[in-house]
Amino acid sequence: MDSPSRSSVIIVGAGISGIAAAKVLVQLGIEDVVILEASDRIGGRIRKENFGSVSVELGAGWIAGVGGKESNPVWELAAQSNLRTCFSDYSNARYNIYDRSGKIFPSGIAADSYKKAVDSAIQKLKNEEANCVDDSSKTMDPPSTPKTPIELAIDFILHDFEMAEVEPISTYVDFGEREFLVADERGYDYLLYKMAEDFLFTYEGRILDSRLKLNKVVREIQHTRSGVAVITEDGCLYEANYVILSVSIGVLQSDLIAFNPPLPRWKSEAIEKCDVMVYTKIFLKFPHKFWPSGPEKEFFIYAHERRGYYTFWQDMDSAYPGSNILVVTLTNGESKRVEAQSDEETLKEAMGVLRDMFGPNIPDATDILVPRWWNNRFQRGSYSNYPIVSNVQVVDDIKAPIGRIFFTGEHTSAKFNGYVHGGYLSGIDTSKALLEEMRKEKERKSESQSLLLEPLLALTGSLTLSQPDTVSNLHKCDIPTQLYLSGKLGIPGAIL
Ligand SMILES: Cc1cc2nc3c(=O)[nH]c(=O)nc-3n(C[C@H](O)[C@H](O)[C@H](O)COP(=O)(O)OP(=O)(O)OC[C@H]3O[C@@H](n4cnc5c(N)ncnc54)[C@H](O)[C@@H]3O)c2cc1C
Repeated sequence: MDSPSRSSVIIVGAGISGIAAAKVLVQLGIEDVVILEASDRIGGRIRKENFGSVSVELGAGWIAGVGGKESNPVWELAAQSNLRTCFSDYSNARYNIYDRSGKIFPSGIAADSYKKAVDSAIQKLKNEEANCVDDSSKTMDPPSTPKTPIELAIDFILHDFEMAEVEPISTYVDFGEREFLVADERGYDYLLYKMAEDFLFTYEGRILDSRLKLNKVVREIQHTRSGVAVITEDGCLYEANYVILSVSIGVLQSDLIAFNPPLPRWKSEAIEKCDVMVYTKIFLKFPHKFWPSGPEKEFFIYAHERRGYYTFWQDMDSAYPGSNILVVTLTNGESKRVEAQSDEETLKEAMGVLRDMFGPNIPDATDILVPRWWNNRFQRGSYSNYPIVSNVQVVDDIKAPIGRIFFTGEHTSAKFNGYVHGGYLSGIDTSKALLEEMRKEKERKSESQSLLLEPLLALTGSLTLSQPDTVSNLHKCDIPTQLYLSGKLGIPGAIL
């Protein structure tokens, strides 16, 4: 068991928000930080894997919001690292919609259906907004419900991919409407490594700094009399003045981490209110290409009577020429269903869909990769999804610190939740807020010390103040040595 150690700040989680938060702290003088990460790597939801002889991104793939009036900070990081990216143009996807017999819908029908779906989504949004302000004087047109396979497919694309066409989304308003796919063998997570290199000790591409502790699953966070105690699954105890908790909203909604004392009701209610989106990219490797390809064919759509059934396809050849890899994206219910079945079953389903579109003679995929973000207990989903008409108070409550615990991560970004840049900016914001709190605490302490010392000085009359020792002894008296164990987790009593 690790011996108890105390640091200024413990950061739970080494995704982009945790690493960004740690970097700000260290660079602004708080060097004794400890980063506890549950998995065996940094990056969190930014994660590459070798598949079919290329490096594919299982989590975040795009830098979303580029080319606008402000520069996306993640785009800047990518430029500094010379990360290889490819522009993604989804606009043609709606003209590559296949029905179950392999016929492509005529572009006029596709465009009409698309317009109808956008109008309906806008109507729905207006109704929700009116309901929110309780404006019962207005009569509302009911939005039309998608019924046919093409309507369902477009509804899926609109709501699960391109909500920007319905509602102004800060990412695209502020940073621009373009999106770039990261297609670099070093991976999207190379950006995190470069950030870590600036403040952690690294050697030959590896982080060797003892302040980063991998495979440390935090199970309990306790407020003690003078700080915070963090207990990990392997029975280690870490103490600090503050904690920055960067785990996902899905993890906060699960029971992985116990809080002692428990979080106040308003906080846990806010955490419950945020939806978690599950988004799954399934990768399929083929011996050769049998699908149409080219600049306007990168994305194609399968229209099925079941919404979201292997609907959205991407040809990876534009990013990795010659790779013969297709990606199909599933979300929410379909993601969970597929996560629960074997990869062989998923392969069979996907091949059925491809044979509907391209005929019975296409070759079987030689390999399949199915990420399981929902069943990963360190993620429990892909990203936060606040209802479009949502109460700003909910995000504020999710973000608000509780005592010495500060919250960060993409779900705490009111403007950019769900995105990599949301995670990155939230990490920076949270550390700045914490530094401000630390400054105030220091002020409060020095005020209370002078209040304590004044009567002493009056009593002794002769006490001189050449005594940092005296002051630091007073500090030490404030630090409790005993710890409270809640017993909730059955963590070995040896911790005491
Ligand atoms: C499939 C998918 C596709 C996506 N596509 C895009 C995209 O194209 N563009 C985009 O901008 N964004 C995309 N995102 C979202 C983006 O990846 C996230 O918003 C961002 O990476 C979140 O960073 P974070 O630091 O907030 O959280 P995370 O990356 O989740 O970091 C939290 C860390 O906490 C760790 N942790 C969890 N529990 C514990 C514990 N108990 N103890 C210790 N550590 C713990 C986790 O292992 C993780 O490393 C996608 C996400 C997914 C999953």
